Amino acid sequence: KAEGRNAFRFFDAAMDAAVEERERLELDLRGALSRDEFMLHYQPVIDLETGQVIGREALLRWRHPVRGLVSPGEFIPLAEETRLIVEIGAWALRRACADALAFGDKARMAVNVSAVQFGQPGFAHTVLAALCASGLPAHRLELEITETVLMQDAESLIATLMVLRDLGVSIALDDFGTGYSSLSYLRRFPFDKIKIDRSFIADIANPETAAIVRAIVGLGASLGMRVTAEGVETEAQAAILRNEGCGEAQGYLFGRPAPLAPAVGCPDQAVEQRLYG
Ligand code: C2E
Ligand code: MG
Ligand code: MG
Ligand code: MG
Repeated sequence: KAEGRNAFRFFDAAMDAAVEERERLELDLRGALSRDEFMLHYQPVIDLETGQVIGREALLRWRHPVRGLVSPGEFIPLAEETRLIVEIGAWALRRACADALAFGDKARMAVNVSAVQFGQPGFAHTVLAALCASGLPAHRLELEITETVLMQDAESLIATLMVLRDLGVSIALDDFGTGYSSLSYLRRFPFDKIKIDRSFIADIANPETAAIVRAIVGLGASLGMRVTAEGVETEAQAAILRNEGCGEAQGYLFGRPAPLAPAVGCPDQAVEQRLYG
């Protein structure tokens, strides 16, 4: 019995520590924008046929003064819960639009948008403001959304998507195939692009998985949507995708996410390596 009580006390202490840790992180996150701790890394999107860079995806990183570089998987859920993502996301949009021009080519810029951001009444205006402030033509901006965005209140959501489309902004459905009803969403909204989740690419040597990828590529073609494969790491995967007629790809094989201008004394490749192995 005494042991049980001890175990319980131990569990209690662990819970307290977890809650404390979360509160610390939240406090740090609240000040991160004003301390200019966020940055964007850009990963190239390539045309599988020509090998040319036709786009880039902006990926958020947090340079925490003590923890070092924190990956979005660790802080975006917290930023969403606290709604801090609204401000952080608006910053990312402005930064990405400005950087798209700084790259000096005609490539598209893709920016990830979370459900909390997209559901904001002023979201379309935030996008327009970022375009106007930077001077980036709307057709060069692409917003990546996931199924969680589409699960919200349908009417205002479709309205926002339509406003953005009328502006000329493209909309991509990210992580396609991982959710519960990817297919039904394709029917409800004309996306410009489907991004096949990287779990399919990782397993593409498996004939069943290759068949699914083939079906998604066919679906994109018949619906008039571009198709991008995420997480391409090997030449063999790229060859299969090319063979299946997939138009675009992204992944470590073609380029890791990296800053626009690598900071002196901060080899970004090493930093990404430390983050993701
Ligand atoms: P995502 O949009 O699906 O982004 C792709 C993720 O795969 C990125 O992880 C990228 O670094 C990683 N990746 C790219 N190529 C490869 C590869 O060849 N192999 C492997 N194993 N991974 C690869 P990251 O940067 O950690 O971002 C994770 C997620 O965080 C993103 O998934 C996106 O959902 C979210 N995110 C990132 N930036 C933002 C942002 O600015 N706003 C919002 N709302 N979400 C963001
Ligand atoms: Mg994405
Ligand atoms: Mg994705
Ligand atoms: Mg993802």
